[in-house]
Amino acid sequence: MAYYSTDILAKFFPRNILETLKNRLGITQLYPTQYEAVRQGALEGKDLVIAAPTASGKTLVAELTILKRLLEGGKALYMVPLRALASEKYEEFKNFFGVFGYKTAISTGDFDSDDAWLGKYDVIVTTNEKADSLLRHKAPWFDKVSVIVADEIHLLGSDRRGATLEVLLTRTKLMPERPQLLGLSATIGNLEELTEWLGARPVRVDWRPVPLREGVYYNGEIFYNDGQSVSLENHGAPLFDLAYDTLKEDGQLLVFSPTRRSAVSDARKLSAITSKFISPGELKVIRENIRRLKSEHSDKVTLQLLELLQKGVAFHHAGLASEARSTVERMFRDRILKVIVATPTLAAGVNLPARRVVVTDYRRFNVELGYYERIPVMEYKQMAGRAGRPRYDKEGESVLIARSLQELEFLFKEYVEAEPENLSSQLASEPVLRSHLLSVIATSELVRSLDSLGRFLLNTFYSYQNRDYFFVIERAKKILNRLAQAGFLEVRGDKLEPTQLGIRVAELYIDPETAVTGLDFFKKVDQASTLSYLYLIASTPDASTIHLRRGDEEWLEDILKSSSLGPVARPPEDEIEYEFFLQRLKTALLLEDWINEVPEEHIVEKYDVGPGDIYSLIQTAEWVAFALSEIAKLTGFNEHSVRLAVLSKRIEHGVKEELLELVSLRGIGRVRARSLYSHGYKSLIDLVTAREEDLAMIPGIGRALARSIKKQLSSEAEESHEEEEKIQELPEQGLDAYF
Ligand code: ADP
Repeated sequence: MAYYSTDILAKFFPRNILETLKNRLGITQLYPTQYEAVRQGALEGKDLVIAAPTASGKTLVAELTILKRLLEGGKALYMVPLRALASEKYEEFKNFFGVFGYKTAISTGDFDSDDAWLGKYDVIVTTNEKADSLLRHKAPWFDKVSVIVADEIHLLGSDRRGATLEVLLTRTKLMPERPQLLGLSATIGNLEELTEWLGARPVRVDWRPVPLREGVYYNGEIFYNDGQSVSLENHGAPLFDLAYDTLKEDGQLLVFSPTRRSAVSDARKLSAITSKFISPGELKVIRENIRRLKSEHSDKVTLQLLELLQKGVAFHHAGLASEARSTVERMFRDRILKVIVATPTLAAGVNLPARRVVVTDYRRFNVELGYYERIPVMEYKQMAGRAGRPRYDKEGESVLIARSLQELEFLFKEYVEAEPENLSSQLASEPVLRSHLLSVIATSELVRSLDSLGRFLLNTFYSYQNRDYFFVIERAKKILNRLAQAGFLEVRGDKLEPTQLGIRVAELYIDPETAVTGLDFFKKVDQASTLSYLYLIASTPDASTIHLRRGDEEWLEDILKSSSLGPVARPPEDEIEYEFFLQRLKTALLLEDWINEVPEEHIVEKYDVGPGDIYSLIQTAEWVAFALSEIAKLTGFNEHSVRLAVLSKRIEHGVKEELLELVSLRGIGRVRARSLYSHGYKSLIDLVTAREEDLAMIPGIGRALARSIKKQLSSEAEESHEEEEKIQELPEQGLDAYF
């Protein structure tokens, strides 16, 4: 095995640190990735981008680099693309850096804060978006950061979130005292182009701790890239053959299926096989987990999952409740659960290795466009790279499924033997460019004139890559005009001056067009119904909306006849616009049900969504409501401001206004608050005078919670550990929640 001695570290760390690394953290040898990164100057402050497969030890490179910086008195910022990854890293770092007496914090929520409390921590784990918002708020501790790690830096090329990372990196590049930059990446085609732009060194490593074999299944056989092939026992369908073959040798299988529907149906079919492979001990653990999940969720998506779990298989997609998703992940890691069928979002998410990975389709359904598209090679490689569990498997294996000889050839050529695509900048897309342009002008000293704006744009990956810099400049000028028209900035000759409103819009982390939509509404409407506010929120570019299903049109039109949305929402004539209109209406109605305390399981049924979808909708809607309330306040629309602020709180907790006081307590959600309320405890004052024993008797409360309520309300609770809470506030949402 190609391991290296840790001697190379002796130059950089004192002996006691080296001993702790060895004795307490078990680092006795270095993986090639780590050795190479140290050789290339990771511990000497050099900027590097490391492109290496999953599980090749990139995290330890980051940990060592950060440790070095901390010993020198610095601070580290670790950025990841997803909340779920942030919590994974946070747990890992708490342990690693804790051993050396350093403190780690996680900060992923609330975009309208500089999180000054983070100043006390040494390692700060955030999502890219949160890092961007901290920069916009000029977080006071930012200038102490001496190393920035950009994990999954290849997502710079992804359409939805890439541009934020690009702007963040451009801003870092232009900082007068630039922190060390460490990029961690999957294998990419144009690593050198990326590093040249960043002024960093490329470190490319192909080594994997568990070797990977890639192959394609066709007609009962797997054909591998090393020229070998094996025949599988026939169990009636390709997926069955592959599952049986994996399970009979005590392996674990991760299946990627293109849509939620196909993931559920593949899992259901596979249950015929998996149920034969559960031991009584495993079944016991599974049942305990089922019992726990059942007490938390009783919607049809969760129930469907629980029924399958009982048979030793799970599906995994963003519609699942976060507790369900993390339970599935944990049981798979503990090797209790042997098979997961996931939608491709899992590939970019948490670390979940299996012996065999099966990719059932090289196409994926694009919900926005409404058709199947080919998945990029890079995404396939990410999925395939999940194969091989360190310690348990000698070798990992990924298999694509071909339905014809022609497809077999195609899959080999286009996926197994293909190189991952080059990254390309996503900055030129107008919605992201306008947000980020306003942000650099309003929240940094970097850009205050047309000239410096030009310089900034010239430093982006977009300009580096495209050389047609004038195209972005032209587009930027158009956007500047629009921003000036909306009152977010003033252009005086060559000078660019942000207005108070512009600064606030940038701080609030919303698309400037969201603010424009809100301001139009405030000017037009004096008295608005709750539903029309919700419609307003759903119609901003920042909000996500739910899709229409067959039959939706009729009941939505019935509702439309019976309720008034006010002048802001007149159904458009245009057919496509009309569909968008109905989507927004459906979203607004879902939110209305949510804040009227309609039970989760009814919402799931009525709108045909999963609990995870409700949660993502709520998160953005709550934020947009809050941001619009702030915009209204700043522009003198006080009535709108107050109503939107209340609405934002109601959306956050899913309650009627009368419960807002009660849900401010920790451990009290919408259901328990209603239970307290209906037993006569309608306010915090009522609870202060209540007896603990009486509270404990209320359904859903119990002894522990009653004690906690009393404690929270007692005078010692005044100094409630806000920071502790924030740190413990781990994400509730996984793969689809980017911020
Ligand atoms: P990556 O970040 O490249 O995906 P990780 O850093 O998560 O990979 O490493 C994969 C696994 O290998 C982890 O369980 C980690 O603890 C282990 N590992 C990494 N480096 C070493 C090392 N030098 N010695 C022992 N185990 C290691």
